[in-house]
Amino acid sequence: MGAEESGPVGNERRVCPVCAADQARTLLAVAGPAASGRPYTVVTCSACELRYTRPLPSEAELAALYTAEYYGGRRPRRLSWDTLRGLAHRVVMWQRRRALLGRPPGRALDIGCGDGDFLAELARRGWRVDGIEYSDAAAALARGKGIAVHQGDLASAGFPSGAFDVVTLWHVLEHLPEPAAALAEVRRVLRPDGLLVVEVPDSASLTFRLCREHWFPLDVPRHLQHFTPATLGALLERVGFAPVRRQSFHAADCLLSFISFMSRLGVLGRLGGTHYFVTEFRRARPAAKAGFLALGLPVGLLSLPYSVLNTLVAGSNETLTVTARKTAE
Ligand SMILES: [Zn+2]
Repeated sequence: MGAEESGPVGNERRVCPVCAADQARTLLAVAGPAASGRPYTVVTCSACELRYTRPLPSEAELAALYTAEYYGGRRPRRLSWDTLRGLAHRVVMWQRRRALLGRPPGRALDIGCGDGDFLAELARRGWRVDGIEYSDAAAALARGKGIAVHQGDLASAGFPSGAFDVVTLWHVLEHLPEPAAALAEVRRVLRPDGLLVVEVPDSASLTFRLCREHWFPLDVPRHLQHFTPATLGALLERVGFAPVRRQSFHAADCLLSFISFMSRLGVLGRLGGTHYFVTEFRRARPAAKAGFLALGLPVGLLSLPYSVLNTLVAGSNETLTVTARKTAE
């Protein structure tokens, strides 16, 4: 798809975080956030086909990317929108519980637990829960719900081997600079019959091919890996997990498709350059509003049937959830 790349990208030539190969093909270039002032590329590893972001953002850049706002500071006040969000949230929690394959309550660890909503949901159902979280703001929100949160990475939490029945990573593995090392540590803290659940954006989706850098779940440079069912499956097997369930349809995916197509059509840029079209709509210029209504309503109405068809026909949608068991030593 892209030309073979020669020479380092930026100052840090990042090798494949799964197989350590340094040869990669450029898939696309993405303008970085204004603060970082440099472009990033998404490349495909020539050895294992993993798609990953280069260069790796620096510590300072990462800190600037994970602001309190990222963890839910943006809460529109409109009643109708909140009601919709509440409903969508319940659907997401239901889909997440299904990924646990009906396990009876035990001990669960959520890595990158954010504001702790999923763990609070499990705790209400009788689970003992722990969270790991990088952000001060998000950890404070989770602790406010009575959840024990370790700030830092999993290795520094020092959990004993075999401590957990279930470990979950919801939209976290794509953020970790060393995903294979992180999963090896997950394997250690899981019981022998423990379950791992990983949910990531699925870059095998048709929407990614159509929208490229406008694909909303791409989120470079926060996302350092861009998995497909094949590359996530290969990584899990490499670190000692056997996938037992794969879920490609998620009710919320139609919103991701919608935002991606609206960005691809150039409508969101004219609304202020963000995807928060609902809160920014009132401030938009009349021409932008007309464009949004003329293009946005049809795209919005088509996004749900598109999501359903996409999953049924292509087998990939915007999000991928895999449940895996530990394989024997
Ligand atoms: Zn590789």
